[in-house]
Amino acid sequence: MRQTLQYDIIVFGGGVAGLWVANTLKRAGYNVIVIEKERLGSGQTLASQGMIHGGQKYVLQGALTKHASSIAKMPERWESSFEGWGEIDLTATKFLSDHQIMWPAGGALSGAAVLGAAKLVNAETKKLKKEDFPEVLKTKPKFKGPVYTLPEKVVEVRTLVEALAKHLKGRLFKGEPSELLPDGQVVVSGIPMQAQLLIFTAGTGNEHALEMLKVKQQHTQRRPLRQIMVKPMPYELYGHGIVGAPKPRVTVTSHPAPGGGYVWYLGGNVAEEAAKMDEPQALEFAKKELQDIFPDLDWSGREWASWYGDRAEPYDDKGDLPPGPFIHQRGRVLMAWPAKLTFAPALSDHVFDWLKDKDIHPTVKKLKTPDLPEADIGAYPWEAAEWKKLP
Ligand SMILES: Cc1cc2nc3c(=O)[nH]c(=O)nc-3n(C[C@H](O)[C@H](O)[C@H](O)COP(=O)(O)OP(=O)(O)OC[C@H]3O[C@@H](n4cnc5c(N)ncnc54)[C@H](O)[C@@H]3O)c2cc1C
Repeated sequence: MRQTLQYDIIVFGGGVAGLWVANTLKRAGYNVIVIEKERLGSGQTLASQGMIHGGQKYVLQGALTKHASSIAKMPERWESSFEGWGEIDLTATKFLSDHQIMWPAGGALSGAAVLGAAKLVNAETKKLKKEDFPEVLKTKPKFKGPVYTLPEKVVEVRTLVEALAKHLKGRLFKGEPSELLPDGQVVVSGIPMQAQLLIFTAGTGNEHALEMLKVKQQHTQRRPLRQIMVKPMPYELYGHGIVGAPKPRVTVTSHPAPGGGYVWYLGGNVAEEAAKMDEPQALEFAKKELQDIFPDLDWSGREWASWYGDRAEPYDDKGDLPPGPFIHQRGRVLMAWPAKLTFAPALSDHVFDWLKDKDIHPTVKKLKTPDLPEADIGAYPWEAAEWKKLP
């Protein structure tokens, strides 16, 4: 029989949620380790667009009223950590942009839609003068705008994962749970472990945890996306192309491409529609969309790829999609979903409320190192993609 390793808390899943929560638990004195099945960030986190939202109503589709106050504090919570005086030192994080834009990406009516979106968002928006438009919009000779900026950062996500992982050195392991009991016992890659609390921030892996606990009721859902990538693009762009629907027609972030220029990483409606198609169809569709939105750019000779994945989300007790961070509890096991990268700090608050409620305090003194490999940091979708030229 192998010795059972004791911890205060074991976190399963090393995405932004697990890493944020583990940092705050460690800081509060809990004996905590993180178990990651693949590589840190390799789920949704490194595939995300890295936008730190400030409760923008249109992006979140008006559904945040219940969580409004905690969500409104999110940019401030992140900012304080980025500046080094917040709950986690994230001064090593780099940014792709300190703002995002909203521009009309359709016919004559989309200008009015941008104006509407700018009024709707909570963050302070600013209308740009023509000379301050991003370079790529200046390539459209007849384009008049309006273009608004949102003072919301776009994070270089891997540097965020690195900054979060830095404070957890010696606590991040690659492994997978195979048996799980609601009293806090778990077998990880053959090693028995026990903790006062097990927290699953495993994204789609939370489903597996619920299966191991033999929970029949459906608590999770997956919403597929096919993010589109195109390179090399000569211009940087960070923002949302608006038409009229509450969802942006396209959300673009730009990432340095090896060999020069940028990879444009496309979300929004393009990614939602592309998820209903196979890859060749999806790439054709995305190319047509971009040709329509930027008719004056030369789209020949570009390389295209896609990332297909699931957003892992919970159902609340009424069977609805909760608008903000959510926790489901079974005995000493918590299943947690942040809903957005932005809400990782709010998720951590929920965990602490729960610890307080159940009176769980740090008790395990010595950190035992399990015989497991260290978890390393994953790759961005565009680093692992298979690129194709389109006719
Ligand atoms: C394409 C896309 C774009 C997005 N853009 C934004 C954005 O711009 N802004 C924003 O705020 N949000 C965005 N989001 C949402 C955001 O990325 C997610 O809400 C957030 O990353 C979820 O973090 P997480 O740590 O819960 O999950 P994940 O990042 O999915 O991490 C879960 C981890 O658990 C591991 N795992 C799985 N099973 C197990 C197991 N059994 N044991 C141990 N580990 C396991 C996985 O390997 C993974 O590393 C985006 C999401 C997607 C998909």
